[in-house]
Amino acid sequence: MKKNLLFLSFLFVFLATSAQKTDLSYYLPQDISYNQDIPTPESVLGFQVGEWHVSHDKLAEYMKALAKSSDRISIENRGTTYEGRPLLLLTITSPKNHQNLESIRTQHLVLSDANNSGSANLDDMPLVIYQGYSIHGNEASGANAGLLVAYYLAAAEGTYISELLDNTVILFDPSYNPDGLNRFASWVNTHKNQNITTDNNDREYSEAWPRGRTNHYWFDMNRDWLVSQLPESKVRIKSYHQWKPNILTDHHEMGTNSSFFFQPGVQSRTHPLTPKMNQQLTKEIATYHAKALDKIGSLYYSEEGFDDFYYGKGSTFPDINGGIGILFEQASSRGHAQSSENGVLTFPFAIRNHFTAALSTLRAGKNMRTDLLNYQRDFYKNAQKEVSKDKNKAIVFGDAADKAKTFHFAKMLERQKIQFYTNTKSESSYVIPMNQPNYRMIKGMFDIRTTFKDSLFYDVSAWTLPLAFDINYAYASNTSNLGNEVTELAFPEGKVSAKSDYAYIFEWDEYYTPKALYEILDQGLRAKVAMKPFTLNGKTYDYGTIMVPIQNQKMDADAMYTLLSGIAKETGVHIDAANTGLTVGIDLGSSNFRAVKKPKIAVLVGDGINSYDAGEIWHLLDTRYDIPVTKLSTKNLSRADLSSYTTIIMPNTSGNSLKSSTKNLKTYVQNGGLLIGYRNSLRWLNTNKFIKLNFKKSKGETKNVSFDQRQNFRGAQVIGGAIFEAAVDKTHPVNFGYNDDKIALFRNTTLFVKPDSTGTYKNALQYSKNPLLSGYISKENLKQISGTLPFKTSNMGKGKVIVFTDNTNFRAFWYGTNKLLMNAIYFGKFM
Ligand SMILES: [Zn+2]
Repeated sequence: MKKNLLFLSFLFVFLATSAQKTDLSYYLPQDISYNQDIPTPESVLGFQVGEWHVSHDKLAEYMKALAKSSDRISIENRGTTYEGRPLLLLTITSPKNHQNLESIRTQHLVLSDANNSGSANLDDMPLVIYQGYSIHGNEASGANAGLLVAYYLAAAEGTYISELLDNTVILFDPSYNPDGLNRFASWVNTHKNQNITTDNNDREYSEAWPRGRTNHYWFDMNRDWLVSQLPESKVRIKSYHQWKPNILTDHHEMGTNSSFFFQPGVQSRTHPLTPKMNQQLTKEIATYHAKALDKIGSLYYSEEGFDDFYYGKGSTFPDINGGIGILFEQASSRGHAQSSENGVLTFPFAIRNHFTAALSTLRAGKNMRTDLLNYQRDFYKNAQKEVSKDKNKAIVFGDAADKAKTFHFAKMLERQKIQFYTNTKSESSYVIPMNQPNYRMIKGMFDIRTTFKDSLFYDVSAWTLPLAFDINYAYASNTSNLGNEVTELAFPEGKVSAKSDYAYIFEWDEYYTPKALYEILDQGLRAKVAMKPFTLNGKTYDYGTIMVPIQNQKMDADAMYTLLSGIAKETGVHIDAANTGLTVGIDLGSSNFRAVKKPKIAVLVGDGINSYDAGEIWHLLDTRYDIPVTKLSTKNLSRADLSSYTTIIMPNTSGNSLKSSTKNLKTYVQNGGLLIGYRNSLRWLNTNKFIKLNFKKSKGETKNVSFDQRQNFRGAQVIGGAIFEAAVDKTHPVNFGYNDDKIALFRNTTLFVKPDSTGTYKNALQYSKNPLLSGYISKENLKQISGTLPFKTSNMGKGKVIVFTDNTNFRAFWYGTNKLLMNAIYFGKFM
């Protein structure tokens, strides 16, 4: 049987490439012996690595088998993905180190404690290396190479491996993105031919929407390391801080016609908070990759294309934590073998390059151990010196009107091991002292930057987190308000002030008010929204306050009290009892209280729709607000019965896949539907006369640009992601629940919508004259954006069209603008 398998696998590769034979000798160093008691991948998977794409369950099965058979490996399950897959971590080191693992860990952590690190003995301190694979699930050669790396580390024999394991603790994360990996494996295995075709047109190489790159809710998890909103990131960041690795590697894939990339990336695009020495060490580590890839004849490059700017990426996150992050990018075979400019690119070839780079990382770590340990120690010592020069001694943050959002912000700090304290002067805010080990990460989270060395960015140019959360914050020149350190953060539960026989009211400020309102409406209860402020029992209730009367409801007063108490507790919303309808201002029976309908929401998904944007909306409604949502496929849209939806959301799209559905969508709106469009859908909605928009055109002059500079010039006109200020008309329903007259918006489009005429009531949100708050924008575009509109509404028949030029739900961490969408959903009819 074994012979047959070998023969078959030989035949397959022969057909595909006529050159390589995939047995273990193709991948593994052949100058050493391997322990026969350790199961090979093939013996557990049933196929040779590279022959099929490993599914996550088989990958997990193999990792467990290795841990069971090797005293070099321990395994833990740290949690589950959205789809219930285990988030495994292997700890790989010598059996002797395994005996003392906890003491090795605590001694290692001393390096990040500047007050005590001087006495740390580096002589026999192991280096900590975190190796992780395929955070983009459809870049699968990483995770498939991981099978071999783990086998090698368990089975290799001889002096070198013994020394390596004595001198390192390897945290081995076999799949950063199990759900995406499995989705992709399923696709390519489903479409695999017996006679492999290398034709790029084959369906195997053309994944269906939403592709395996992302996780369950279609997030790019390699943007989530700093803000850590997703379950996969949360456990990973926990492991990270438990150990503070010296090197972290991140194995990816890129275009089929490329070769292999390893960091360092473009030097001018390194974040200024990252020490120079980081890039020098990265460069020295790179010599090991070069040598190893030379040896197997693989082409490669570095210092081009990719960068180390955004700390939310896996290869950049360690750079603000005293480690070295390394990105690997392998040309993708996407399926089992594809034609490329470099000849036929096979899956085994892609796997072998990643395997080789994983081993060269370990070799570099072993040889550069003391340099890397010293670097980490110096990183924290130097940070401490910088703190003493910083005139700001603390940051105070918090929002009395939105305790849940404050909680989520604090939770994020907690996950990143940033210390914060209660505030002796205020119950609703916290104090972050600057003088703490993670000073540099605090800077990385709060910094505002508007000038840059380079005008190109691989990702966003700004992520200033208090702006993203729309949370109040201020720098302080002393720490006199410092109370007790917060070590256990509990969700701020809300309460019903008293039982009422008349009505309940709550303001719209809290983050989870949309969830509370949905639960109320879902019980069949009636609720109304206040279109004007009023005062009752000495308290002023702002625009957007929700009122739930007791009379003539489906429930009696006792049941309603019980229900609302539960909702208040769960959502953190404080609900007041009202015993009279007479107020100062609009009375509770006024027609300025408008009945709110329970929303029934569909989000357009599928071909032509941007899956990130659609996923963010799905995630927001499904996981934050517990509002059911129909994912409506564009391919069925032309004939779907839309009449039951109160709201249809159109995420970012060019509209090309919507042509046949134009009529159905128009009829839906004309009959009273609410259509909410995002970003590029505005152009389509304008062209197809759903709404009339006047766009400013960007000129983008190209004088004095050389041929060689053309791409840099074009790139500089892109708004890759920056933060802008808009003025807020607080009386407009889209702004209900916001208390400031300014808001920070995230933007990554160059859509500039002209205002109707300055100062009219239609400009509910309007970009300020000089709106750049943080990030990069070209001078030309900054001129263009000034005074334009990020939001507009228009009537159409009995219905309404609402558009946003910007993404209000960006990457699950832009809590600050989530409510704009929820206001459009609940109160769109009143706009
Ligand atoms: Zn990738």
